[in-house]
Amino acid sequence: MKSRRRGALLGLAIGDALGAAVEFQPPGSFQPVTGYRDGGPHGLAKGEWTDDTSLALALADSIATAGWDLNDQASRYVDWWQTGKYSVNGHCFDMGFATRSALARFVATRNAQTSGDRSERASGNGSIMRLAPVPIRFGSLYAGHLAEYSKLAAESSWPTHPSEQCVSACRYLATLLAALIHGEPREDILSPDWPRLRQLNAIQPLHPLIQEIAEGSFRRKPPDAIRGTGWVVNSLEAALWAFHAAESFEEAVLKGVNLGDDADTTGAVCGQLAGAYWGETGIPEPLRSGLARRDMLENALARIGVV
Ligand code: MG
Ligand code: MG
Repeated sequence: MKSRRRGALLGLAIGDALGAAVEFQPPGSFQPVTGYRDGGPHGLAKGEWTDDTSLALALADSIATAGWDLNDQASRYVDWWQTGKYSVNGHCFDMGFATRSALARFVATRNAQTSGDRSERASGNGSIMRLAPVPIRFGSLYAGHLAEYSKLAAESSWPTHPSEQCVSACRYLATLLAALIHGEPREDILSPDWPRLRQLNAIQPLHPLIQEIAEGSFRRKPPDAIRGTGWVVNSLEAALWAFHAAESFEEAVLKGVNLGDDADTTGAVCGQLAGAYWGETGIPEPLRSGLARRDMLENALARIGVV
């Protein structure tokens, strides 16, 4: 279980770093990614990661320091934005639109419960991309206390992405990640008949578009209908499409990243799933050792209790 908990965060960062070089490029317009590359829109070095990982590190730091406090989580996101803390190179060099406007509002109001835009059109993938610390730290609640656990997942979305689509996506993804960390078989948890999916819906119905994914949209759609964009629905569907039939961590994450568009984030979401499933030991060594600022990830893991 330790290897799978570690894998969820390392997988997030590895998927992010693999995708960073081709972020914003249309699918099919680039040489397929096979390993770390330098360049991309942020001009990063090989193995460097982006906002997805920075925000996950900020969330982990908040959980380690304050337990569960949304204002503290938002304050740490602001630290990243304004001071470059949690960044791979000391600067905030990329930021989603919803995150920026929500954090600006938070700076003015200091209330993370109302800082984000609740409208459906503000349904980016900025909260699923940073989710791993929640299942890593609180995943043990999943078996006996699903209502409590899924509430934490929902709340983790609020400071920047409180729309129903984003909140539902976090509840569903967090439940999948906890189940994988507990060693449940992939085919069981991705089945439309998974008992936990029924339970989640009984606690609070998932948004219909997220429920459609949970019912297997990623299996039925032709590959050219899968899009790794910044919309949470596309992003989660693309990550599950890349993950569900892959035979290895590497195959899953590269499949997600090679969709282009919001490649780092598709990689980060798929990397959480693949890392939780195959565990740290299932991640090829060059991908682990090639990751920049591995010390920051190790420190975060130690602080949320994975030593
Ligand atoms: Mg990013
Ligand atoms: Mg991105």
